[in-house]
Amino acid sequence: MKRKILLLSTLLLALLLATACAVTGKLDEGPRKFEAEFIGLFDTLTRVMGYAESEEEFAAVVQELKDDLEVYHQLYDIYTAYPDLVNIKTINEQAGQGPVVVDQKIIDLLLFSKDAYRLTQGRVNIALGAVTKIWHRYRSEGVDDPEAARLPKMALLEEAALHTGMDDLLIDPVKGTVELKDPQMSLDVGAIAKGYAVEQAARAAEERGVKHLLISVGGNVRAIGARNDQGEPWRVGIENPDYTTDDYLAIVKADAISVVTSGVYERFYVVEGQSYHHIIDPDTLFPENRYLSVSIVTPDSGLADALSTALFNLDLEDGKKLIKSMEETEALWCMPDGSLVESDGFAALTSA
Ligand code: AMP
Ligand code: MG
Repeated sequence: MKRKILLLSTLLLALLLATACAVTGKLDEGPRKFEAEFIGLFDTLTRVMGYAESEEEFAAVVQELKDDLEVYHQLYDIYTAYPDLVNIKTINEQAGQGPVVVDQKIIDLLLFSKDAYRLTQGRVNIALGAVTKIWHRYRSEGVDDPEAARLPKMALLEEAALHTGMDDLLIDPVKGTVELKDPQMSLDVGAIAKGYAVEQAARAAEERGVKHLLISVGGNVRAIGARNDQGEPWRVGIENPDYTTDDYLAIVKADAISVVTSGVYERFYVVEGQSYHHIIDPDTLFPENRYLSVSIVTPDSGLADALSTALFNLDLEDGKKLIKSMEETEALWCMPDGSLVESDGFAALTSA
């Protein structure tokens, strides 16, 4: 009983503090399976799974990973400022005021995001903040008060779209500075930062000697190695946008690979019976209804995150072409009627 109360209060504390960590393990011979969960980083639930000789060993691996993720979380935050820290929010606040000296991890994310912009011909654009900010506000208001939910006026979106030029994001890697040339522009790294951070944290763990670990930050999954020394892969389920079923869309055999999904069910609001999700097509300035979800499987979790968002804004044929042009990259599209479309090599990565 005492233990139960302790567990319950630990859970409550975890929810309250938003960053607590719980570790569970199974008694067995040899390395045991452990799982840890914590909330708060990137405003979502992080789950870590792996095998270790002892709970302490696993907890140490998780703690280092968590510490790394925390650093990225604060640096890439667009909503919260932290004492004595220059992050994306403070960069946005200094738009139009000249170069800002930033942490190398910010320079690296922004350079990576510029590459993603070029690769996808602008379908994922972190300089779209002026537009996504409007949608964020209307969505929040609509969720809080569904009766009063409304759509932003096109004129408002079009005015904001004048301040979304990637060329106005100036990065000087030598001086370590970033400048937003346009005083009305702002960065929204929501499409890329989580995946990029998970990738960097996973690489750091690999460098520390971690051989097998499965990391999921809000469903952004990165596998370090296979499940065990025998090379058996992790099994990663792709969530079904149809919440009335428990079936996964697919189960990916993951060995040193990432699985990232963007879906209409993640963040949305309803206006006059019509649902509006959170991925904005830079051409129409609206969320389009091409897909219910798009999943990417590729080694680099940052790339997977960028591509899953970008493909939402590409017609199927163009998306397929882009995926075909890339090595070790596969995609799964869930169409509005629930049917699935796979890239050529996707089936080889899945299991029943
Ligand atoms: P994800 O869940 O990775 O697909 O990212 C979606 C988030 O990225 C949204 O909540 C917005 O903050 C931001 N976003 C929406 N549309 C775009 C876009 N076209 N390019 C870049 N970021 C976007
Ligand atoms: Mg993304």
